[in-house]
Amino acid sequence: MDLPRHFVERERHHRIHNPIDATKLATLGAALRLPAGATVLDLACGSGEMLCTWARDHAIQGTGVDLSSAFVESAQKRAAELGVGGAVRFVQGDAVGYVADEPVDVASCLGATWIGGGAEGTVALLRRSVRPGGMLLVGEPYWRRTPDDEVVASFGVAPDEWTDLPGLVARFGELGCDLVEMVLADKDSWDRYVAAQWLTIRRFLDAHPDDELAPQFREELATAPLYHVRYQREYLGWGVFALMDR
Ligand code: SAH
Repeated sequence: MDLPRHFVERERHHRIHNPIDATKLATLGAALRLPAGATVLDLACGSGEMLCTWARDHAIQGTGVDLSSAFVESAQKRAAELGVGGAVRFVQGDAVGYVADEPVDVASCLGATWIGGGAEGTVALLRRSVRPGGMLLVGEPYWRRTPDDEVVASFGVAPDEWTDLPGLVARFGELGCDLVEMVLADKDSWDRYVAAQWLTIRRFLDAHPDDELAPQFREELATAPLYHVRYQREYLGWGVFALMDR
C-alpha cells in the first residue's frame, strides 16, 4: 500500500504537508519545552520535517510512520542533511492501529486524523503509545467563520464533521484531555501549504504534458486558486493542539 501518486506529485517539494509553516513548527517545538532525549512518535509523518527539525533543535528522538514511500525517502534525506540520522527513523507503512514498542513522551498525528477515524479515535490511538503523563499532538481543521451550506458542500464534508474553534477545544475536554498548548495556522501559512502546490503542478504539466495525471492537474490548476481564496483561506482554520490526559 502506498499513497496515490497525485498526492505525491502535488506536494513533492513540500517539507510540511499541512498549513503550518516552518516558523510555526519551530514555535510549537519550543513551546512544548521538550527535554533532550524526549521520545516522539509521529503517525502520518509525511516528509518528517517536525521530527528532523526538533531532533536538530531540541535533541528529541523520533520515529515517524507514513504510507508514502516517496515522503519517507524525503524524510530520510532530510534527516541526513540536518545531521540527525542517528536520532530519527522513518518507517513506510500504514499508521492505522500503529502502537509504539515502548511508550513515548509525545505521540502525534498532524493533519491525518482519518487514521483513527476522526479526532476522538486518533486521541485513543495515540494514547496507546504514550507514557502516563505524556503528551498528544493533534492537528485538526476547524471553521474560522460560520459556513453556509454552499461552503460546507464545497469542502465535501458533512455539516457536523468540523466545528468551530471553541467547539473543537470543548471536544478535547470531553475526551478527558487538558489542552496545554496550541499553535494555529493563519492565512499566510495556508498559502505556504496550498499555493506552493500550484507551482509544483504547473512545472509538472510543463515537464510531463502527456502524463496520465496531466488532465486532472490541468483542471486543478485552473480551479484550485479560486477555490482556495474563496473558501479554504477564508473559512478553514487549522491548528496543532497539545493535549495531556487529566
Ligand atoms: N504530518 C505530516 C503529513 C500530513 S499530510 C506533516 O504535517 O507534514 C497527510 C499524510 O498522511 C501524508 O504524508 C500521507 O502519506 C499520510 N497517510 C495517509 N494515510 C495514511 C495511513 N493510513 N498511514 C500512514 N500515513 C498515512
